[in-house]
Amino acid sequence: MTNDFKRTMGKLKNADKRLAAIHLPKRVDLQEQSPFDVNIVSCSDCGAKGELKSVDNTWFAQCSNTKCANQIQTPVNFKWKASLLWMQKNSSTVDYRTLPFFDLSGLRKDRAREKLKHIDNYIRMNKDKSDAIAKLDIESNGIGLVYDYSYWEALYFWCTAAKSSVKQFKAR
Ligand SMILES: [Zn+2]
Repeated sequence: MTNDFKRTMGKLKNADKRLAAIHLPKRVDLQEQSPFDVNIVSCSDCGAKGELKSVDNTWFAQCSNTKCANQIQTPVNFKWKASLLWMQKNSSTVDYRTLPFFDLSGLRKDRAREKLKHIDNYIRMNKDKSDAIAKLDIESNGIGLVYDYSYWEALYFWCTAAKSSVKQFKAR
């Protein structure tokens, strides 16, 4: 067995072990909408609209105000990823209670943070698992939800943006 194979098998075993012990909170719905469907939030520096740009088959997100330098670090290969990185960067403009998937409406910051920590763990284990399954080219054993890697990766970005939004959020 190659080291790569062993490492991937180890990752899969670990993910299965952890997933068998994690249960998603009730009403958390990871299928509430497509995680690839992302609205472009406004700029946290100047309040102008954010915008997406396509550059040589990659995607970039920046502030639409030409005098404002706010932008994501590097272009990425998917539109949804650029949009979610932009959301993360401007998460102070996002009210976490309105985000899909995680059922955070009505939760105070500390409760929302706790809930997201739990969900984040679940999503990361599934991301590891779907990655290992694809690399090993095997069928899933059905533990956890069966989505492909990019679906879990998108949810992971949503969750990261949500955590950042909770941290930044000031009640209005
Ligand atoms: Zn701006």
